[in-house]
Amino acid sequence: MVERKKIIILGAGFSSLSAACYLAKAGYDVTVLEKNEAIGGRAKQLKRDGFTFDMGPTFYWMPDVFERFFADFTREVSDYYQLLRLDPSYTVCFGEDDFVEVPADFTRIKTTFDHIEPGSGKQLEHFLSKAEANYNIAVKDLVYQPGESISEIITPATLKRLGAFTKSISTDIAKYVRDSKLRKLLEFPVLFLGAKPSSTPSFYNFMNFADLRLGTWHPKGGMYEVADGIARLAANLGVDIKLNSPVDDIVIEKKQVVKVCSGKEEYDCDILLSGADYHHTEQLLPQAYRQYSENYWNKRTFAPSALLFYVGFDKKLSGLAHHTLFFDVDFDEHASAIYDTPSYPERPLFYASFPSMSDDEAAPEGKEAAIFLIPLAPGLDDNDEIRKRYFNIIMSRLEKTTKQKLRSHVIFKESFSVNDFVSTYNSYKGNAYGLANTLLQTHVLRPKLRSRKVKNLFFTGQLTVPGPGVPPSLISGKIVSELITKHHAP
Ligand SMILES: Cc1cc2nc3c(=O)[nH]c(=O)nc-3n(C[C@H](O)[C@H](O)[C@H](O)COP(=O)(O)OP(=O)(O)OC[C@H]3O[C@@H](n4cnc5c(N)ncnc54)[C@H](O)[C@@H]3O)c2cc1C
Repeated sequence: MVERKKIIILGAGFSSLSAACYLAKAGYDVTVLEKNEAIGGRAKQLKRDGFTFDMGPTFYWMPDVFERFFADFTREVSDYYQLLRLDPSYTVCFGEDDFVEVPADFTRIKTTFDHIEPGSGKQLEHFLSKAEANYNIAVKDLVYQPGESISEIITPATLKRLGAFTKSISTDIAKYVRDSKLRKLLEFPVLFLGAKPSSTPSFYNFMNFADLRLGTWHPKGGMYEVADGIARLAANLGVDIKLNSPVDDIVIEKKQVVKVCSGKEEYDCDILLSGADYHHTEQLLPQAYRQYSENYWNKRTFAPSALLFYVGFDKKLSGLAHHTLFFDVDFDEHASAIYDTPSYPERPLFYASFPSMSDDEAAPEGKEAAIFLIPLAPGLDDNDEIRKRYFNIIMSRLEKTTKQKLRSHVIFKESFSVNDFVSTYNSYKGNAYGLANTLLQTHVLRPKLRSRKVKNLFFTGQLTVPGPGVPPSLISGKIVSELITKHHAP
């Protein structure tokens, strides 16, 4: 019998799990080593007193990417989890008695726009037709390129759109709508890319198409169910997933990884793929085999870290939607505290999610599960005092804007922030979403999937191509597995 090549994969986040499926299907012998006690990476799940929380991603966008992933294995999304389209997709709070719902139906979205700024519904249609064209170019083709050479993205379609790579999405949006609320609403989707809208190329308006046309979905049971579905597929394809197995050493001989160590356990391999944070993986290598210096990492624009709260309420809440964004304070002031002068924002924007408003598995009957997220600059000091202060700020703003008593209805709260991102995921400076997608951190300018110094070492995940988010992580796993197959056939 021919021996199959052995691949070890670090981490069991979306990118690693995706790669594991493709590599097992291609015929490799695949073992995943995950540091934590569960799969899912940043999509960890918290269960407490009958409540279930997604600790990381909550927005299920770009359903087509998930469909394409499962179709590659002749499976369907519905074989693994049940999807529900949310309506409204989300609600934005701009102040007391000032909430704007973004409905699922596009005709109703246009009516909402026209109501705020007459004529803006038609403008939105124009804006989104360009966004759709970019979506078709980007998400159906460009994002599946490995970022090895700039020629991958120089196509007749992108050459026609050079301007969209040099001007910012903020500038572009301002050409279509004048109203500040509508501008904020259209700038919101690119926040998922981890940078300021004023630093994000307008080509990324395809995120607006994803938002307003493809919709916001919720997997029953939460985003963890998606990771669990992919892990089940991987197991079905023969992947061995070992939990509680933090890799602490990578052994190199003659410029090749020969084995990795996790405590006393040693795992020989022909190929090593890391889906753990890039900086951390390089720290496990002898200095001579690291591709990027500390200075390199220090100069990157990292996507934000976050302060998160997972809260159980003893009653149902009113006046809120499954996803509610609190943009009732100065957007630029908060963005500046993240990107310009890293510090805690005086008046934070925050995001709130109440999964139990549409999913009865998220909380016991008559109760509400809540997740609150404040985006923060990575690397900030993090302590209990600060967490307490910001929890109070959130509660006060929520009580005021929704006119209901909340504090006395909290059954429990748990928090997660910078220090936890570092200790739980080995995240560089506690970043939550990896490396931002700015113009200078796109495609070939992102950390490479294939090591230039170690022949059989590869990387995947939100710090590589195409970037942060669950759909890009699935794509990253696919691209890297194709690269591995190309350079080291099974
Ligand atoms: C709070 C939050 C909210 C988000 N919201 C959204 C959203 O709404 N929608 C969306 O699409 N995306 C969202 N994202 C982004 C999305 O979750 C990530 O981009 C994606 O999950 C990253 O997957 P990954 O595989 O690249 O990395 P990870 O999920 O970080 O996986 C890496 C894995 O490697 C493991 N590891 C680290 N070191 C070692 C080691 N030495 N040995 C073994 N294993 C190791 C880690 O434990 C981890 O499990 C959010 C992220 C966060 C944190």
